[in-house]
Amino acid sequence: MRNLIVAAAAALLASQSLAIPPLPPPPSPAAPPKLLIVVSVDQFSADLWDEYRPQFTGGLARLASGAAFHNGYQSHATTETCPGHSTILTGDRPARTGIISNGWANWNAPRADKLVYCGEDESVPGTDSDHYKLSPAHLRVPTLGDLMKQRSAASRVVAVAGKDRSALMMTGRSANQRWYWSDKGFVSDLAATSPKSVAAVNSAVARIIAAPTPALAPPDFCAGKAQPIAIPDHAPVGAGAFARAAGDAKAFRASPQADASVLALSAALVRELGLGRGASTDLLTVGLSATDYVGHTYGTGGQEMCLQLLELDRDLGDFFARLDGWGIDYAVALTADHGGLDIPERARLHGVADAARIDPALTPRTIGDVVTKETGLQGPILADVGVTGDLYLDRHLQGRDRDRALAAAIAAYKRHPQVFAAYSKDEIARTPLPAGDPTRWSVIERVRASFDPERSGDLYVVLKPNITPIGHATGSVATHGSPWNYDRRVPILFWRPHMPAAAREEAIETADIMPTLAAMIGVPVAAGSVDGHCLEGIAGVACPPR
Ligand code: ZN
Repeated sequence: MRNLIVAAAAALLASQSLAIPPLPPPPSPAAPPKLLIVVSVDQFSADLWDEYRPQFTGGLARLASGAAFHNGYQSHATTETCPGHSTILTGDRPARTGIISNGWANWNAPRADKLVYCGEDESVPGTDSDHYKLSPAHLRVPTLGDLMKQRSAASRVVAVAGKDRSALMMTGRSANQRWYWSDKGFVSDLAATSPKSVAAVNSAVARIIAAPTPALAPPDFCAGKAQPIAIPDHAPVGAGAFARAAGDAKAFRASPQADASVLALSAALVRELGLGRGASTDLLTVGLSATDYVGHTYGTGGQEMCLQLLELDRDLGDFFARLDGWGIDYAVALTADHGGLDIPERARLHGVADAARIDPALTPRTIGDVVTKETGLQGPILADVGVTGDLYLDRHLQGRDRDRALAAAIAAYKRHPQVFAAYSKDEIARTPLPAGDPTRWSVIERVRASFDPERSGDLYVVLKPNITPIGHATGSVATHGSPWNYDRRVPILFWRPHMPAAAREEAIETADIMPTLAAMIGVPVAAGSVDGHCLEGIAGVACPPR
């Protein structure tokens, strides 16, 4: 972060064109903050938060000195990036946001590719799910930014993220600026004028990627985790320290420097756009994706994740210190889009006896073969859309054949010892929407919170706990996406200067963040219009009567 920030700031100051308005007067504690900063740390499970909390001394320690909930829940079943980000600033679960997963089937899409990406508009000619037009079209509800701009057009909404879906889902339709990492540096889907900060950070980052990068020097706490773990047909993981060859952009993305670059651009845009100095409260959403890439690439239990989290803590501390130095009156909320699970090979060494990779017999094709044998139905049975979660019957199956195929597929899944449950779409649709304490929800209630009648699959398959749905690790070695609490439970932290520290034990939801921040800045949210609930007393928040 330090060298990135310095490079970007130097480039900005050299331009000599920034008119910074005078500092605002010191904030009154009851007044709304001038800048809301909402941070999502991708795949930052509450298990990691609990383990590393004593090690944090920087930005995460600062946030822990506010209202720190370690029993936050992304309460739905499909714990993926797009649905998780869709809950944070809408106040709604995916059943309401419509963002049921990172991608789903739309058999009516006006193109050959019937798979759709969560953050695209598939009606745009010439697109497919890989070459898509980024769009909030699938998001069925407004975001906090939308409400802020409805109330005051002077409010600015700015997103910076490592992933397009993070920036998109946290801003929706209202972003003034939206920047996310791509193989061309930070890019935008909006036709806004490009701030000088973007070019400055992009060239600083390009220089960093172009140079070879030496390994980080692990502190003792991380060195204690450096044990190489063998994974079949894959290089061992566990003892890495982010040494990188010149030009390896993929390794950069899965390193602490990726988050540092997002924070560098965030800080530079605060400065250049004068966020937090306008007439109305501004919103900055920050999507930090490196923890997710590190988790997928190396698992969550080794030296790599340790270094990532300690660097993130330090870089967040630098980011906040910079805002402090500029005299900005800001409040922060930080959470995660989902949690994560370590590689089964290391989990077993740590005593998780049932940790395993998914049996190859659980691919849709193999289950389809079983169905064909049992029913005599011809042609493909299950569409090639995912391995667990939402699954779709092939569209040639209709009427009674479809019913028979569905029943046989569900029975075949249920017979497998790694499968916890398989539900039909009708069974899920009949389940009432859950409410109340998310730790008490049944598994089908969690699935119901991920259900959209138009987009969801014909059946939904849940693996037993600790089964990793990556059979043969060629790319990612570990993942998330299950309805189990290691994937659902995330930290939710609120911080404002001088607020009383409170380490809170009660279970809350990420959907509670939006109504709480709305109350903090005086934006009305109609009672019952969102799934989440305003949390009373956070940084002096007075919630509207329920
Ligand atoms: Zn994610």
